[in-house]
Amino acid sequence: MVAYFSMEIGIDPDVPTYAGGLGVLAGDFVRAAADLGLPLVAVTLLHRKGYFRQRLDPRGGQREEPAEWNVEAHLDALPARATVTINGRPVVIRAWRRRVAGLGGAAVAVYFLDTDVEENTNDDRALSHFLYGGDAAYRLAQEAVLGIGGVRMLRALGYDHVHRFHLNEGHSALLVLELVSERLRAAGRATAGEDDIDAVRQMCVFTTHTPVPAAHDQFPPDLAERVIGAHPMSQLMHRCCYGGALNMTYLALNFSRYVNGVAMRHGEISRRMFGGYHIDAITNGVHAAGWVSEPFRALFDRHIPGWRADNFSLRYAVSIPTPEIWDAHVAAKLELLEFVNRHQSPPFDPAVLTIGFGRRASAYKRADLLVSDPARLRAIARAAGGLQVVYAGKAHPRDEEGKRIIERVLRAREALGTDVPIVYLEDYDMAMARMLTAGADVWLNTPHPPLEASGTSGMKAALNGVPSLSVLDGWWIEGHVEGVTGWAIGSDGRMPRAETTDNAAHAAALYDTLERTVAPLFYHNRDGFTTVMRYAIALNGSFFTAQRMLQEYVAKAYGAGAIRHPASAPEPPREVVTA
Ligand SMILES: *Cc1c(COP(=O)(O)O)cnc(C)c1O
Repeated sequence: MVAYFSMEIGIDPDVPTYAGGLGVLAGDFVRAAADLGLPLVAVTLLHRKGYFRQRLDPRGGQREEPAEWNVEAHLDALPARATVTINGRPVVIRAWRRRVAGLGGAAVAVYFLDTDVEENTNDDRALSHFLYGGDAAYRLAQEAVLGIGGVRMLRALGYDHVHRFHLNEGHSALLVLELVSERLRAAGRATAGEDDIDAVRQMCVFTTHTPVPAAHDQFPPDLAERVIGAHPMSQLMHRCCYGGALNMTYLALNFSRYVNGVAMRHGEISRRMFGGYHIDAITNGVHAAGWVSEPFRALFDRHIPGWRADNFSLRYAVSIPTPEIWDAHVAAKLELLEFVNRHQSPPFDPAVLTIGFGRRASAYKRADLLVSDPARLRAIARAAGGLQVVYAGKAHPRDEEGKRIIERVLRAREALGTDVPIVYLEDYDMAMARMLTAGADVWLNTPHPPLEASGTSGMKAALNGVPSLSVLDGWWIEGHVEGVTGWAIGSDGRMPRAETTDNAAHAAALYDTLERTVAPLFYHNRDGFTTVMRYAIALNGSFFTAQRMLQEYVAKAYGAGAIRHPASAPEPPREVVTA
């Protein structure tokens, strides 16, 4: 049995307990595990008020509203209770369950931890309200609920045979301290030794997602002492801390048998960042059946029956006639434009090359790169026969630079007027991502390398035959075949030397590729364009799936024998992944 811990899980568009890529990935992970029939449970926090609902004023100013949702309507209440001492007070935790059904009828249970119960003080009740809200003390208390409370809740629910604890990012790393405590309690000992650390390490798997050291969770030791109190941490400082702070990444690294980054390049970056650790890479993937639009579902069902159970068979999209691919795409595009045109006048034109950009509005993603030179963009659009752009994405409430990026895009929208129609859709979520990644003609990504650990929206686009036009970073380094699966921006792939020159250089390269390659192919060689779409499916849609990702975790991280029969002899991995 594997227990998968994640601060956010995107389980359902109506359950807004995710902020972006990390949570959507976790949801896809769970869905793929259910499809494969893996014995896995997932643990997360309830986030009663979600991340937030985004509203934009006409100038791009972002307002945040709580994303209240009806918990009872989506999850089952369970009687089990667990208690964790936080800030010196016992905090009672209950759990809600959602069963995620897989293709073959197996289901994965996802447990949402909730502190909003009568026994708790108002402050403690609020710990399960907001995802990524509050200050460092609030965050650490949430991490104690997730990590320590999560293990205790699993025990209360009767999960005594968990052989792997998978930490999806460092937020849940306190669980390793709880596993040490369990051993000490069972043995009636007070002090932890190397053998305790080794035993816990045998059970834990850690996936890191963040290529920036400053973005890794860390807390001053006095805050840690106050919030989580007497835990084996005080004995294990050398294993928990770095630079004088409780560091969740180091804690996870020191207590995990297997550690991975989320794309090949991100594995390299992580090895450079955390010298002395074995860090492998498993490239992310998306849940194919969930991200394929209706028209492509019908197309794949016709040509590749069985593609849901075996995503690799999407490779055979190479023989689907290109006109059928184009027709399916037009249907997906019309659905997107119908949605866009509810907010947009004059309406977007289905005949015009439509660029899609949907992702968190974070500085490194550079949403405004495309509009950084409006005159150049206008000239390209005029010469090509038209361009229109659909944007979406939320900025974290405290990310002022992210908010300014949205404002810059909206200012460019005004400047470009009807020459290059731009729409910025409010409140990007999974449902919108599904429509946007399928309905755009080209999926744009402009991260500042090497900061895009993986990126997954381009994989969703590929499944729908939408080629990427992207800076070479994250997954695109692996998925990119120039002119075959899409196009690279600044295709020599070298790391930029300085941020300032880099932005301008990347913008110039983006404009060049758009002007010389992408737009002419779209407008003057429709069959050539559709052939690229077809390879996007066959080479990338077939491979960058959560199904393949899970198979890699089984083969490399979980240890197959332990998964299938926790108490008996190991079996060859192959049987497990095809079960
Ligand atoms: C897929 C997805 C993301 C992640 O997109 P990236 O390409 O990794 O930036 C973020 N938010 C939502 C709602 C998604 O569906």
